[in-house]
Amino acid sequence: MDTAKERSGWSDDELEASVDAYLKMLRLEQSGQTFKKKLENQLLREGPLIKRSASSVEYRMQNISTVMEQLGFKRITGYVSAKNLGTGVIKRIKEILARKDTDALHKNIGQATPSLSLQLVDAHQPHMRDAPLGILSPKRTSSTVMRLSRAISVKKWVLARSQGICEGCGQPAPFLNEKNEPFFEVHHVKHLVDGGADSTWNTVALCPNCHRRCHNSIDKHDFTKSLYSKVKGLIEKPNN
Ligand SMILES: [Zn+2]
Ligand SMILES: [Zn+2]
Repeated sequence: MDTAKERSGWSDDELEASVDAYLKMLRLEQSGQTFKKKLENQLLREGPLIKRSASSVEYRMQNISTVMEQLGFKRITGYVSAKNLGTGVIKRIKEILARKDTDALHKNIGQATPSLSLQLVDAHQPHMRDAPLGILSPKRTSSTVMRLSRAISVKKWVLARSQGICEGCGQPAPFLNEKNEPFFEVHHVKHLVDGGADSTWNTVALCPNCHRRCHNSIDKHDFTKSLYSKVKGLIEKPNN
């Protein structure tokens, strides 16, 4: 079991990684897909929650269930709400959820029909690898019923994050695409063929030059490394 000190000592990044993983699992559960809590727990501890124990990660997921219930969302069935939660942690988890909302620069794909139930609007899900992390956005509807809505792809999310600026060189997109949007190519920092994850924390929006530089340049390894310090939200994991 974790201690009160450990609970209160979680960084924002750790909390956010927990929320992202939680939302991913929730989405899988809601769409009738299976996931293994134990495996997700382990993945988190091999990555952003490397300092945490299995039981403290488990407890954190229960915290998030508590917040989800307070907000009127459905929670993951397997994570029963934790009692005796410090208000500080609740507040921080709520803030992270709210931030997910402002991060969602793209307009809501789903129809804004007020509903008490959690609605997950996913354009399409070609395969599991494409399950984006942290893209479920809490929205407040006119009837003040909040719902989680819209799941957008990792690609769209990363393009939105870039805000028209190449995440490799910091320059504006070299041209607009046919839809009048900044043209970027989406690149997996740790390549998919090397076991990299198709997740927002492993994906960047690059201008064509920077993209080729990642793949074909003499300094491709150094340049790739530099992305982790340049791009907020990227996480370098040994086994991602
Ligand atoms: Zn660039
Ligand atoms: Zn690439």
